[in-house]
Amino acid sequence: MTAPQTPGPAESTGATANAASSSRDDAEVSLYIAHQKIYPRSVSGVFANWRWGFVFLTQLVFYGLPWLEWGQRQAVLFDLTARRFYIFGLVLYPQDFIYLTGLLVISALSLFLFTAVAGRLWCGYACPQTVYTEIFLWIERKLEGDRSARMRRDGQAWSAEKFARKAGKQFLWVSVALWTGFTFVGFFTPIRQLGAQVLVWQLSAWEMFWVFFYSFATYGNAGYLREQVCKYMCPYARFQSAMYDHDTLIVTYDTERGEPRGARSRKADPAQLGLGSCVDCDLCVQVCPTGIDIRKGLQYECIGCGACADVCDTVMDKMGYARGLVRYSTQNAVKQHWTRSQIVGHIFRPRVLIYSSILAGVVVAMFVSLALRIPFKVDVVRDRAVMARQVEDDKVENLFRLQIMNATESPQKFRLDVSGIPGLAIASEREVMVDAAQARWVVVNVRAPGDESGPRSQPIHFSIESASGLGKLSEKSVFLMPR
Ligand code: SF4
Ligand code: SF4
Repeated sequence: MTAPQTPGPAESTGATANAASSSRDDAEVSLYIAHQKIYPRSVSGVFANWRWGFVFLTQLVFYGLPWLEWGQRQAVLFDLTARRFYIFGLVLYPQDFIYLTGLLVISALSLFLFTAVAGRLWCGYACPQTVYTEIFLWIERKLEGDRSARMRRDGQAWSAEKFARKAGKQFLWVSVALWTGFTFVGFFTPIRQLGAQVLVWQLSAWEMFWVFFYSFATYGNAGYLREQVCKYMCPYARFQSAMYDHDTLIVTYDTERGEPRGARSRKADPAQLGLGSCVDCDLCVQVCPTGIDIRKGLQYECIGCGACADVCDTVMDKMGYARGLVRYSTQNAVKQHWTRSQIVGHIFRPRVLIYSSILAGVVVAMFVSLALRIPFKVDVVRDRAVMARQVEDDKVENLFRLQIMNATESPQKFRLDVSGIPGLAIASEREVMVDAAQARWVVVNVRAPGDESGPRSQPIHFSIESASGLGKLSEKSVFLMPR
């Protein structure tokens, strides 16, 4: 980087301007600042407990779900090879894609709603980046100590003790990451079968790729990238401000109460010293996983984890001051000194009510549609290899291939029928058995009286009815007459 030159006194004004312009051209402006490693200090308190609660809950679901059995199969399995999703008693086929869309819409609307009400709840408590960073940090603390010990050790030369601690941490990080990658793939390949394959090292290329890719992503994101994922990679951090308003609950510093900040003894009266409640201990910055100072106001880097609120409460307790100098509140509430009930009263504002009503509508529609869903699907395909052909009794025959997908957990019998042309009938088997949660292709011969004067192509309808009363489906196709 070239430093700008200072013009000498003998230089003319024009020369000065030229020199300045040329030095500006030469100067390289770095758009990036060097990354400074953050050593978050451990913290305990209400919000830390909530976060650990979510860590346990989300990981219990993630690590535990693939091991649950449902009858003879894995309870939750996204079998991409067979193009079938199993979610407990529900068997979904690609034709049920609408439910996946519904689930995504519900997730997006929930995110909008929670963000409008209480800011980045997802980021601070349940996002995988937060959850795995918390787990990896916990391992780091157990092996290398809290913030000051880690900082001191990183500044020291390598020793046997430092190597042993770092190696132990790496071993545990890699183990957690590999188990996470294995579990992730276990949602797509039956996990017990996957475990047996791992033991004899017979994973398919794709399984191996995804186990290692997911493990590597977990290791890198939670072990090293940490807050940089939230600050530079996650798009949600960027568009969240569009969902905030002055009544959104955020982690906020009460400037009016805290300033002017300054150190003082526990016994000193801040009013006499002309100080606010902030003792300028810097602990809120030290516990922050993104390394920001909440006292500077709302910043996009803040993931709303509440760690600064927890630690500040412990400081307030020690000083004998009221808690809540850093707290969950709204911009309006802090400015206008609202009570808790006034804050709660402002939760139910138009945007929250609109998000809630749309969300409730989509959830109800999804459940109703699932409850009314006919648990089998049919695809009709004309057999293009065999066009219309003349058969006995002056009849014309067309061949069709029907794929019947049984989305129930028991074998089902289906009755086939066809209509649309006078005298149209099925000449092949009219009853078909399909095994539980299986799809079956059947060839269907359809015959109609030959009619050279009519149109060459005529619409027909197949009806497929479950013999056990699950419902009846109708599928369109066309019947061709020979020319
Ligand atoms: S933890 Fe509380 S008292 Fe300490 S610097 Fe932060 S805001 Fe001030
Ligand atoms: S400022 Fe506070 S709430 Fe925001 S990320 Fe830092 S510690 Fe968490």
